[in-house]
Parts: sequence; C-alpha cells; structure tokens
Amino acid sequence: MTHSSRLGHAPSSTRRRIVLAGSGLGVAASLFGACRVAAAATGESRRQLAGRAPAIFIGHGSPMNAIESNDYTRALQQWGRDIGVPRAILVVSAHWLTQREVRVSVAEQPETMHDFGGFPPRLHAMQYPAPGAPAVARRAAASLVPQRVGLSDERGLDHGAWTVLHHLYPAADVPVFQLSIDITRAGGYHLGMGRALAALRDEGVLILGSGNVVHNLRDTLRGVPASPRGLTPWADEFDQRSKQAIDAGDTRALIDYTSLSAEALRAVPFPDHYFPLLYAMGAAQAGERARHVFEGFQAGTLSMRCVQWG
Ligand code: ZN
Repeated sequence: MTHSSRLGHAPSSTRRRIVLAGSGLGVAASLFGACRVAAAATGESRRQLAGRAPAIFIGHGSPMNAIESNDYTRALQQWGRDIGVPRAILVVSAHWLTQREVRVSVAEQPETMHDFGGFPPRLHAMQYPAPGAPAVARRAAASLVPQRVGLSDERGLDHGAWTVLHHLYPAADVPVFQLSIDITRAGGYHLGMGRALAALRDEGVLILGSGNVVHNLRDTLRGVPASPRGLTPWADEFDQRSKQAIDAGDTRALIDYTSLSAEALRAVPFPDHYFPLLYAMGAAQAGERARHVFEGFQAGTLSMRCVQWG
C-alpha cells in the first residue's frame, strides 16, 4: 500500500507559465460569482455553507482510500455533508512542494494528477473534474504579499487533494485551487502563511491542509488492519502529543515538532506531510476549539487524524 518512493512531486517544469502576483490583483468579492446549491450525483440536495468556512486538516494516507470504503472514508463523506458546500476550497497538500518560492494554481479546469505509480488501473483512471477558482486564487496570492507568489495556470490537482475531495464533495462541483509548500522553510513560516490566509474563510473559502501527522512510509507496518491507536510507541506517542498540543492551542510546540516526542524524527522524518497541519491551524481564529473529526491509524503507523477548526 506504500506510495513512498514512487510518488513524484510536481515537477518544477519550465513550461509552466509563472507570473508574479502583486499589484492589480485585488479582486472584488463579487468575483466569487453566484453561488448555487449544488446537487450531488445522487440528486440529493445539499446544504450551502453559510458564513465563515472552517479550516480543516485531513490525514490522507494511501491513494487507495479513494476507491476503498472504510471507517475513514465514511467519516470523510459525512464530514462533507456536515460542513456543507463552500464557495471554494483552498488545498495545501503535501504533494505540491516548491523550494524558495510559493505558487498558487489559477487553472480554470485543473487536471486530475495521478502522481503515484503501481496502483490498480481503476485508481489511475479516476477523474475529479472540479473547476478551478482562479479569481479566488489571485485573492489568496494578494493576501500573502509581501510573499511573492507565482501563478501557475497549468497545475492540476494532486492526489493529496482529489483523493479526499472525492469523498467530501463527490459531485466535484466545488471550485478548488492549490497553494504550494515552500519546503525550505521552517514550521513558524507555514503557521504564518495559514494566518495570512485566514480571512478567506470569511468569504466562504474552506481551507484544507492535506498530509499526515505521522508519516514514515519506510517503517509502515504492511498488511495490518486499521487501528484506533498507533501500533508502535514512536507513532502513537507523536500522534497523541500532537493531539494534546492541538487541543491546547500550543502552536509553539507544534512548530517545534522535532521536540514533540522522544522519537519525533521517526514519526516525521520529513515534514512534507506534517506542514499542512500548520496551515490549517494557522487559519484558525482565536477561541475556535479544535474538533478531531477522525482519529485512527492505517498500516499501524500512518495517522489518519482529521481536525476541524470553526
Ligand atoms: Zn501523501
């Protein structure tokens, strides 16, 4: 079930047209356009999210969750119904990493990226044809000034985005855009980015960090069933310490994650899947309590923890 070394990150392709966000990109809220109450593929009428959208973190795990049905995927499906339909979704995924720069996708119709290998053809054939949200993406980029943000009109949705959105919003009719993670930066920077993006929530934009609190595919226990707690001390302790810090609003402890537990660097050997948590927590408002929407492990050591603020 591993998607370790076979997974590629978005290539820093020179063919992607990159321009800088900045002056003249302040876009009126009206550019969100008219919202409509979307209908699911089943014809079921869904509730439009009213007011401020939440900030959420999702542990995404293996891409196989996109085509499987288990306690985790059923929790995501219910979660989407509970949240309601937002105006747009900003995804910060572990699978879009950049170095010394940040990019945002302004694609009108982002492609479904199959940024993995060796999985069943059914997974490779899946499509998540949600529209992009270029106007909102430009607003997001402008809100991050003086951070320079490159606009990419060719970037698609990576599997950190679409494998979970497929369960949250199966009709694929909510506009989605992604922001990259500058992996050369430390934790405090990523929390600050989340804070800078928080105002988008007031416009009805769901901010979604997608990664895993504990993510060490080299030490994953293959073939073991899902479990409510981590099956090794290093995985379980880091997950529990993270939960305590989240509940306490202890951002300092979460930024300094290498000190969070005795074997933190075994739980988070590389922070690509951890940093999305800091974007979601950064986007939380003072006084918003965290709610752990799903807790549990897949493959013994892969924390599928999901958290909502607001
Ligand atoms: Zn991943």
